[in-house]
Amino acid sequence: MNYQSVMITLLVPFLFGGCTYSNGGTIAQNNQSKIMETAETIHEKNPYYSRTDTTKLHVPLSEWKKILPPEMYDVAFEKGTEHPFTGKYWDYKGVGTYYCAVCGNKLFYSTAKFASTCGWPSFFEPSRKNAVIYKPDHSFGMDRTEVICARCGAHLGHVFNDGPAPTGLRYCMNSAVLDFVPDTHEAMVKK
Ligand code: FE
Repeated sequence: MNYQSVMITLLVPFLFGGCTYSNGGTIAQNNQSKIMETAETIHEKNPYYSRTDTTKLHVPLSEWKKILPPEMYDVAFEKGTEHPFTGKYWDYKGVGTYYCAVCGNKLFYSTAKFASTCGWPSFFEPSRKNAVIYKPDHSFGMDRTEVICARCGAHLGHVFNDGPAPTGLRYCMNSAVLDFVPDTHEAMVKK
Protein backbone atom coordinates (compact mmCIF):
# COMPACT_ATOMS: atom_id res chain seq x y z
CA MET A 1 0.00 0.00 0.00
CA ASN A 2 1.56 3.31 -1.04
CA TYR A 3 1.58 6.54 0.98
CA GLN A 4 -1.47 7.98 -0.80
CA SER A 5 -3.56 4.86 -0.15
CA VAL A 6 -2.55 4.87 3.50
CA MET A 7 -3.56 8.52 3.88
CA ILE A 8 -6.93 7.96 2.17
CA THR A 9 -7.63 4.96 4.38
CA LEU A 10 -6.75 6.82 7.56
CA LEU A 11 -7.97 10.35 6.92
CA VAL A 12 -11.09 10.22 4.78
CA PRO A 13 -13.23 8.13 7.15
CA PHE A 14 -12.17 10.47 9.94
CA LEU A 15 -13.36 13.50 7.99
CA PHE A 16 -16.69 12.05 6.92
CA GLY A 17 -17.91 10.29 10.03
CA GLY A 18 -17.28 8.16 13.08
CA CYS A 19 -16.95 4.38 12.92
CA THR A 20 -15.69 2.86 9.73
CA TYR A 21 -15.94 -0.50 8.10
CA SER A 22 -15.54 -2.09 4.75
CA ASN A 23 -18.44 -3.92 3.20
CA GLY A 24 -16.90 -5.31 0.05
CA GLY A 25 -15.83 -4.11 -3.33
CA THR A 26 -17.51 -2.37 -6.19
CA ILE A 27 -20.10 -4.43 -7.98
CA ALA A 28 -20.87 -4.95 -11.60
CA GLN A 29 -24.46 -4.67 -12.75
CA ASN A 30 -24.79 -8.43 -13.13
CA ASN A 31 -24.36 -8.79 -9.37
CA GLN A 32 -27.54 -6.80 -8.73
CA SER A 33 -29.71 -9.90 -8.37
CA LYS A 34 -27.37 -11.21 -5.66
CA ILE A 35 -27.59 -7.89 -3.81
CA MET A 36 -31.38 -7.88 -3.99
CA GLU A 37 -31.44 -11.45 -2.72
CA THR A 38 -29.31 -10.40 0.24
CA ALA A 39 -31.57 -7.40 0.85
CA GLU A 40 -34.66 -9.64 0.83
CA THR A 41 -33.05 -11.91 3.42
CA ILE A 42 -32.39 -8.89 5.63
CA HIS A 43 -35.95 -7.60 5.19
CA GLU A 44 -37.42 -10.94 6.26
CA LYS A 45 -35.99 -10.31 9.73
CA ASN A 46 -37.24 -6.72 9.80
CA PRO A 47 -41.02 -6.35 10.49
CA TYR A 48 -40.76 -2.55 10.21
CA TYR A 49 -39.52 -2.55 6.60
CA SER A 50 -42.14 -1.34 4.12
CA ARG A 51 -41.90 0.51 0.82
CA THR A 52 -45.54 1.58 1.04
CA ASP A 53 -46.21 2.37 4.72
CA THR A 54 -45.06 5.93 5.43
CA THR A 55 -45.97 5.90 9.15
CA LYS A 56 -43.15 7.34 11.22
CA LEU A 57 -41.36 4.67 13.25
CA HIS A 58 -40.35 4.83 16.91
CA VAL A 59 -38.29 1.70 17.40
CA PRO A 60 -35.82 1.39 20.31
CA LEU A 61 -32.18 1.09 19.37
CA SER A 62 -32.00 -2.23 21.21
CA GLU A 63 -34.63 -3.57 18.80
CA TRP A 64 -32.85 -2.26 15.71
CA LYS A 65 -29.64 -3.81 16.98
CA LYS A 66 -31.32 -7.22 17.11
CA ILE A 67 -32.81 -6.90 13.62
CA LEU A 68 -30.20 -5.20 11.46
CA PRO A 69 -26.86 -6.51 10.19
CA PRO A 70 -23.99 -4.95 12.22
CA GLU A 71 -22.65 -2.81 9.34
CA MET A 72 -26.13 -1.36 8.72
CA TYR A 73 -26.74 -0.64 12.40
CA ASP A 74 -23.30 0.98 12.66
CA VAL A 75 -24.05 3.52 9.92
CA ALA A 76 -27.74 4.03 10.74
CA PHE A 77 -27.60 4.43 14.50
CA GLU A 78 -23.96 4.99 15.41
CA LYS A 79 -23.30 7.41 12.53
CA GLY A 80 -20.65 5.21 11.03
CA THR A 81 -19.20 5.96 7.62
CA GLU A 82 -18.13 3.29 5.18
CA HIS A 83 -14.75 3.60 3.53
CA PRO A 84 -14.85 5.53 0.23
CA PHE A 85 -14.92 3.47 -2.97
CA THR A 86 -16.05 0.35 -1.09
CA GLY A 87 -19.85 0.60 -0.78
CA LYS A 88 -21.96 -1.33 -3.27
CA TYR A 89 -23.53 1.74 -4.87
CA TRP A 90 -20.81 4.41 -5.02
CA ASP A 91 -20.41 4.07 -8.81
CA TYR A 92 -23.52 2.03 -9.56
CA LYS A 93 -25.43 3.22 -12.62
CA GLY A 94 -28.63 1.17 -12.50
CA VAL A 95 -31.93 2.86 -13.39
CA GLY A 96 -34.40 2.72 -10.53
CA THR A 97 -35.09 3.89 -7.00
CA TYR A 98 -33.05 3.95 -3.79
CA TYR A 99 -34.89 3.19 -0.53
CA CYS A 100 -33.80 3.35 3.10
CA ALA A 101 -32.41 -0.13 3.82
CA VAL A 102 -33.57 0.15 7.43
CA CYS A 103 -37.25 0.99 6.89
CA GLY A 104 -38.06 1.06 3.14
CA ASN A 105 -38.66 4.82 2.92
CA LYS A 106 -38.25 6.05 -0.67
CA LEU A 107 -35.17 8.30 -0.70
CA PHE A 108 -33.66 8.93 -4.14
CA TYR A 109 -34.23 8.30 -7.83
CA SER A 110 -31.31 7.17 -9.96
CA THR A 111 -32.02 10.16 -12.22
CA ALA A 112 -30.70 12.37 -9.38
CA LYS A 113 -27.51 10.30 -8.95
CA PHE A 114 -24.30 11.67 -10.38
CA ALA A 115 -20.75 10.44 -10.81
CA SER A 116 -18.91 11.88 -7.87
CA THR A 117 -15.22 11.45 -7.18
CA CYS A 118 -15.79 11.31 -3.43
CA GLY A 119 -16.28 7.53 -3.36
CA TRP A 120 -19.80 7.47 -1.92
CA PRO A 121 -23.15 7.31 -3.75
CA SER A 122 -24.09 10.93 -4.45
CA PHE A 123 -27.40 12.53 -5.39
CA PHE A 124 -28.40 16.14 -6.12
CA GLU A 125 -31.88 15.87 -4.59
CA PRO A 126 -34.07 13.49 -2.55
CA SER A 127 -37.15 11.79 -4.04
CA ARG A 128 -39.42 14.29 -2.28
CA LYS A 129 -38.97 17.18 0.08
CA ASN A 130 -39.94 15.32 3.26
CA ALA A 131 -38.14 12.05 2.51
CA VAL A 132 -35.25 13.14 4.73
CA ILE A 133 -34.67 15.53 7.59
CA TYR A 134 -31.60 17.59 8.36
CA LYS A 135 -29.61 18.16 11.50
CA PRO A 136 -26.55 20.36 12.15
CA ASP A 137 -23.47 18.22 12.81
CA HIS A 138 -20.51 19.88 14.51
CA SER A 139 -18.55 16.70 15.19
CA PHE A 140 -14.81 16.61 14.43
CA GLY A 141 -14.68 20.41 14.58
CA MET A 142 -16.57 20.75 11.30
CA ASP A 143 -19.86 22.39 10.37
CA ARG A 144 -21.78 19.84 8.37
CA THR A 145 -25.42 18.94 7.79
CA GLU A 146 -26.45 15.42 8.64
CA VAL A 147 -29.10 13.73 6.49
CA ILE A 148 -31.52 11.45 8.35
CA CYS A 149 -34.31 9.16 7.11
CA ALA A 150 -37.59 10.93 7.92
CA ARG A 151 -39.41 7.65 8.62
CA CYS A 152 -37.03 5.70 10.86
CA GLY A 153 -34.45 8.27 12.00
CA ALA A 154 -31.48 6.41 10.52
CA HIS A 155 -28.34 8.36 9.75
CA LEU A 156 -27.81 8.27 5.97
CA GLY A 157 -24.88 10.62 5.40
CA HIS A 158 -24.35 14.35 4.91
CA VAL A 159 -25.32 17.00 2.38
CA PHE A 160 -22.78 19.47 0.99
CA ASN A 161 -23.02 22.60 -1.16
CA ASP A 162 -20.65 21.39 -3.89
CA GLY A 163 -23.07 19.37 -6.01
CA PRO A 164 -24.09 19.83 -9.64
CA ALA A 165 -27.07 21.68 -11.15
CA PRO A 166 -29.96 21.99 -10.75
CA THR A 167 -29.66 22.10 -6.94
CA GLY A 168 -25.93 22.55 -6.35
CA LEU A 169 -26.25 20.00 -3.54
CA ARG A 170 -24.38 16.74 -2.98
CA TYR A 171 -26.18 14.21 -0.82
CA CYS A 172 -23.22 12.04 0.16
CA MET A 173 -24.76 8.74 1.30
CA ASN A 174 -23.62 5.40 2.67
CA SER A 175 -24.43 2.35 0.54
CA ALA A 176 -24.98 0.30 3.70
CA VAL A 177 -28.24 2.12 4.41
CA LEU A 178 -29.53 2.13 0.82
CA ASP A 179 -31.56 -0.48 -1.06
CA PHE A 180 -31.72 -0.21 -4.83
CA VAL A 181 -34.78 -1.42 -6.71
CA PRO A 182 -34.44 -1.40 -10.50
CA ASP A 183 -37.22 -0.06 -12.69
CA THR A 184 -39.16 -2.79 -14.42
CA HIS A 185 -40.02 -2.36 -18.08
CA GLU A 186 -43.68 -1.79 -17.11
CA ALA A 187 -42.77 0.88 -14.58
CA MET A 188 -40.57 2.68 -17.10
CA VAL A 189 -43.40 2.74 -19.67
CA LYS A 190 -45.75 4.29 -17.07
CA LYS A 191 -43.32 7.10 -16.16
FE1 FE B 1 -35.49 4.71 7.17
